[in-house]
Amino acid sequence: MDKNIRICIVGGGPAGLSAGMYLEKKGYENYTILERLDRVGGKCWSPHYNGRRYEMGAIMGVPSYYAVHDVEEFCGITHDGPKLNRNYKNARGDVIEPFEPKKNILKIPRLLKMKKQVKRLGELLETKYKGYDLNGHRGVSEGRYEGFSQQNAKREPVSGVNPHLKDLALPFSEFCKLNGVELIQDIWIGPFTSFGYGYFDEIPAAYVLKYLDFQTCMNFVKINLWTWKEGTQFIWESLNDHLKHPARLNSHIEKVERKDGKVYVTVNGEVEEYDKIIVTAPLYIPNKRADGQVGMVDYFDAREDEKTLFSKIDYERYDVLAVETKPEDHPEISYYVFDNMVPEKLGRLMVYYRRWKDTKDQVITTYALRKHKDKAEIDYDVCKKMVLDDLKTMHNPATNVVNEWSVYYFPHVFSKDYADGWYEKVEAMQGKYDTYYAGEVMSFGDMDETAEYSRELVERFF
Ligand SMILES: Cc1cc2nc3c(=O)[nH]c(=O)nc-3n(C[C@H](O)[C@H](O)[C@H](O)COP(=O)(O)OP(=O)(O)OC[C@H]3O[C@@H](n4cnc5c(N)ncnc54)[C@H](O)[C@@H]3O)c2cc1C
Repeated sequence: MDKNIRICIVGGGPAGLSAGMYLEKKGYENYTILERLDRVGGKCWSPHYNGRRYEMGAIMGVPSYYAVHDVEEFCGITHDGPKLNRNYKNARGDVIEPFEPKKNILKIPRLLKMKKQVKRLGELLETKYKGYDLNGHRGVSEGRYEGFSQQNAKREPVSGVNPHLKDLALPFSEFCKLNGVELIQDIWIGPFTSFGYGYFDEIPAAYVLKYLDFQTCMNFVKINLWTWKEGTQFIWESLNDHLKHPARLNSHIEKVERKDGKVYVTVNGEVEEYDKIIVTAPLYIPNKRADGQVGMVDYFDAREDEKTLFSKIDYERYDVLAVETKPEDHPEISYYVFDNMVPEKLGRLMVYYRRWKDTKDQVITTYALRKHKDKAEIDYDVCKKMVLDDLKTMHNPATNVVNEWSVYYFPHVFSKDYADGWYEKVEAMQGKYDTYYAGEVMSFGDMDETAEYSRELVERFF
C-alpha cells in the first residue's frame, strides 16, 4: 500500500492509539486520530484523588501483554504501580479462604478434583485445542487457526487446521462439561465474571480462553500482575504524547461517507477527505445510551452487510463506583465475593478494590454487572443501591460516592452467531469499503488484546 495514504482512525483508546503507533512504525505517517472525548485512554480512565490517581477503568496487566509492552518501550515507561493483593468474603461479609484445604476440610475432595481438572485443561489446550490462544477469532468457527503466535514477544505468523476449535463457540460452561473440567470454572470465574465479562452460561468459550489462556489465568492465580503508578490511562497519555500526530480531542463525527474510493468524514462541521478509515469505536449499540455514545452504523453510510452483522453485537452493563469510607471502615485489602458472581445475584457487589496499601486517604472502587442474556436488566440506580448496601454487609460502608460510571463494556456476540461464522464474515469485509474494523469486539475487551489486534491489522493490511 502507498505509504502516503491518508488514514482516519476513529477513537483514541488503546486500539486507536496503538493503530497510530504501529502505522507510524511501518512508515505510514499520514494518519489522524479522532477522539470524541476531551481525554485519551477510553476505558483506561485514571482520575486524580488527593494527589494520586485511581482506576475507574482498566487496572492491571500480565507479563504476556506484549502489545502494551511495545507501547511502554515506545514511550520509555514501565509498569511501576502498587502490588496487587486480595482476599475473599462470602455474601454475609465473613472473610473466607475458599482454596485453602485446611480451612475447608469437607471440601477437600472437590479441591483435589479441581486441581486435577486444571492440569487436564492445561493439557487439552496444548493438544486438542492447539491454536486456541491466537489474538482474534479468524477461522475458529471453521475449525482453523490463523494469526500470530502469542507464545512470546516475537509473535511469529502461524496457521493450521484444527476442527476441535469449533467447540470454542459453545458457552464456556458447556465447553467445560464437554471436556469434563467443570470445576475449573471456580478458578476462571474470578478474573472473568467479576471483571465484568458476563456469565459462563452465556459467553462463548473462545472469549474466555483467548483472554484467560492458561498462562494468563495462572498469572492471576499467583498474582503475577502489572499495574501503573499513574494509572493505566498514563500508558495511553504517554503514547499520545509520543505519536507524531496526537489524537484530536473533542472531535464530534457527524457523518462518514464512503464513495469513489475516498472516505469523507464530517467532523465538527468540516468535511475532511481520507483514503482509508479504521474504526476502533463501538460498531453497534442497541439502545441509545445516556452518555451519548452511539455505534458506527449510526453515523456512517452503513451498508446492509455492516448493519446486519453489527446488529448481532451485545455488550455488558458494568458499573463502577468510587467511594469514600471512614478510616475505621476502610477495607484492609481488595475483596472478591464469589457468592455474588452468579446470575441469580445480578446487580450485587462482586469485587471491590483497594489500590494503595500505605494510606486510607483513597477511594475504594466497586464493580457490579446488571445484565444477563436471559434476565431483565437491572436499573442503574437499583444496582447502585444494592452495591452500597453490600458494602455495609461487608463491614466497609461508604460515606460518599465520588465518581460513578456505567460502562459500555465487552462487546461480543453470542454462541449461535459465533458458530455461524460472524467473525469470518466480518474479517472478509476488512477493507471492502475502505474501512477496517478494530477495537474490542474484534478480539477481546482488554487493553492488550485490543492493542494487539491493531498491531496485526496493520501487519495484515498496510
Ligand atoms: C472497569 C473496567 C476495568 C477494566 N479492567 C481491565 C484490566 O484490568 N486490564 C485490561 O487489560 N483491561 C481492562 N479493562 C478493559 C480495557 O480498558 C478495554 O478493553 C480497552 O480500553 C479497550 O480499548 P479500545 O480502544 O478498544 O476501546 P475503548 O477503551 O473503549 O476506547 C474507545 C475510544 O473511542 C472513543 N469513541 C467512541 N465513539 C467515538 C466516536 N463516535 N468518535 C470518536 N471517538 C469515539 C471513546 O471515547 C474511547 O476513547 C477494563 C475496563 C473497565 C471499564
